[in-house]
Amino acid sequence: MNAHVRAADPKQRIKGATGDWEIVIGLEIHAQVTSRAKLFSGSSTAFGAEPNSHVSLVDAAMPGMLPVINEECVKQAVRTGLGLNARINNRSVFDRKNYFYPDLPQGYQISQYKSPIVGEGEIMVDVTPTQSITVGIERLHLEQDAGKSLHDQHPTMSFVDLNRSGVALMEIVSRPDLRSADEAKAYVTKLRTILRYLGTCDGDMEKGNLRADVNVSVRKPGEPFGTRCEIKNVNSIRFIGQAVDVEARRQIGILEDGGTIDQETRLYDPAKGETRSMRSKEEAHDYRYFPDPDLLPLEFDDAFVETLKIGLPELPDAKKARLASQYGLSPYDAAVLVAEHEQANFFEAVAKGRDGKTAANWVINELFGRLNKESKDVTASPMSADQLGGIVDLIGEGVISGSIAKQLFEIIWTEGGDPRAVVAARGMKQVTDTGAIEKVIDAVIAANPDKVEQAKAKPTMAGWFVGQVMKASGGKANPAAVNEILARKLGLG
Ligand code: ADP
Ligand code: MG
Repeated sequence: MNAHVRAADPKQRIKGATGDWEIVIGLEIHAQVTSRAKLFSGSSTAFGAEPNSHVSLVDAAMPGMLPVINEECVKQAVRTGLGLNARINNRSVFDRKNYFYPDLPQGYQISQYKSPIVGEGEIMVDVTPTQSITVGIERLHLEQDAGKSLHDQHPTMSFVDLNRSGVALMEIVSRPDLRSADEAKAYVTKLRTILRYLGTCDGDMEKGNLRADVNVSVRKPGEPFGTRCEIKNVNSIRFIGQAVDVEARRQIGILEDGGTIDQETRLYDPAKGETRSMRSKEEAHDYRYFPDPDLLPLEFDDAFVETLKIGLPELPDAKKARLASQYGLSPYDAAVLVAEHEQANFFEAVAKGRDGKTAANWVINELFGRLNKESKDVTASPMSADQLGGIVDLIGEGVISGSIAKQLFEIIWTEGGDPRAVVAARGMKQVTDTGAIEKVIDAVIAANPDKVEQAKAKPTMAGWFVGQVMKASGGKANPAAVNEILARKLGLG
């Protein structure tokens, strides 16, 4: 189906007083380019420096200063375009977008308007592990970030910090292909994953390195698109979802009361759970765009693009498909692993030469579960892939049972060490010696003659004996051997 005319899943519709409504969403993502220097100057982009310590004469817009394009930022934009399956434009143009803001010393932002560096593309978005949609990308262009006004430093004055002035941003504009808050959140999540794989933006929303303008409109199913409002600068994925729902409800309320939607720019207030009008929507002609006379059109040849293409890493979709087939994983497990490339790398280091499903189970359920509890990501894991692999080996060899493995996991997590050595030193080996197991079973049977009678009448009672035997052996008895010998002794086999 053509993504542009995609209808919402009936489940995603909103019930109103006058019938069902459908939400239409398009996102403009501002992603800070990973680069040591700014887009048109050599100043550092390092975060958190003393105010105004990373400001060149170009960034401060001193008269007569000339911008010089940073080739690394161009490469990052092209890499990103390739990662979004998009058309790369070998010729693009930088324009001046004119407006006044105290933290914009040039009085204009250098951006790209009619001729962006990257054209149409598309990405696949998993809304659930088994349901995916294709979202169209309209364009990606390069532009400068502005500085920052500081209003909390002085009782009567505002200050300006120009450290961020001139830092390169990629604006990535989606088609209005999204139909629910969940789809919008999944889209941003996927886009951020791709950017991180590419190494072109760190996706750190807390630092403002990735922020979204959320365009929302509503319509009755089957009708043309309605008038949209643009919610500016939403800085977390959760807030993007909330802003969509709150704004859609507001618009439905107005329309059902017989009103009309004014196209405007709004702000989302998470504390109040509402969007507020900021200004009426500006039109492109308000900015008096014109090609920046200080910059030649940006041109490169196919070989430049080809070289960057060859250098691209394996991207999430390809990695997901490969992990699923190479290691026999479910789509769900593969999706969890590829969400961050560091997670997939960790998994592959554990799975190498071992059973893939067991490795995935231990990485996802035990390791990620544990990391999550301590709010750590996999790069800060106290347990190495070698150590977890060692535990998986001991399970595979039948040296330890699953329940002992969990105890061993705990020990290695908190104390470190080599799993095999720890098992030997602490006597955690699984007992497969049937003679020893038989002795324990005989003792349990002798102590519980009444239960033996019950078990003979009701074979499911055998489970109680298994529990007792496992307990008496400190969890070390081989469960298969216990089951087998018990069945024989109780005459259930
Ligand atoms: P502008 O530059 O004025 O913000 P664009 O044409 O670049 O306008 O579109 C901005 C965003 O708005 C895009 O992501 C697009 O998908 C989205 N959009 C366009 N029309 C609608 C609509 N009717 N409802 C929701 N989103 C829309
Ligand atoms: Mg816009």
